[in-house]
Amino acid sequence: MARYRDAVCRLCRREGGKLFLKGDRCFKPSCAIEKRGTNPPGQHGAARRKMLQGYGEQLREKQKVKRIYFILEKQFRNYFEKARRQKGVTGENLLFMLERRLDNVVYRSGFSTSRRQARQLVNHGHIEVNGRKVDIPSFQVKAGDAIAVKGRTQNNTHVEGAWSTAAGRGRPAWLSAGGQEFTVNVSATPRREDIDANINEQLIVELYSK
Ligand code: SF4
Repeated sequence: MARYRDAVCRLCRREGGKLFLKGDRCFKPSCAIEKRGTNPPGQHGAARRKMLQGYGEQLREKQKVKRIYFILEKQFRNYFEKARRQKGVTGENLLFMLERRLDNVVYRSGFSTSRRQARQLVNHGHIEVNGRKVDIPSFQVKAGDAIAVKGRTQNNTHVEGAWSTAAGRGRPAWLSAGGQEFTVNVSATPRREDIDANINEQLIVELYSK
């Protein structure tokens, strides 16, 4: 799969706000948004910042959500088509599917400090769902599932560090700490209020409905 290899902080500056792509650093003063502000990257970034509307605004919103969840265009479009076929509000259905991806759940549970790190944990086989290894980042979790970090990986310094600070970063209401260390239960399906309020999913629906 193609990967973005440039500095990820540029993506936050391009979208004009924190996307939390870099783990611990996103919560420190060394965050590029804290240091440099929200102007787009590049020498003439400040001059390029202009009020977007219509197509430009819709496109930026779609790019922002793709970047938050680290999804490429084709896969994102597939999620949208699935969301459109489901009952309910298309934009919310889209966000619910993105939120229920296993790599996102690993991040939201507090086993990692970024979605990129979470995807690596899943890809490398360090995550179990209901006691069985699952190494597919797009795997959709459902209410009743138990997500856990495999035994030896629990001693990994990154995982230990992320888990010990998870409470400070906050965990959404639909995920609850399990009885054991490094285990989280999916107690419900996500609701819109559990997901970033800064996302305007209706703009994405309008973009793809043209
Ligand atoms: Fe974005 Fe995190 Fe970089 Fe800050 S440190 S600009 S939130 S990726």
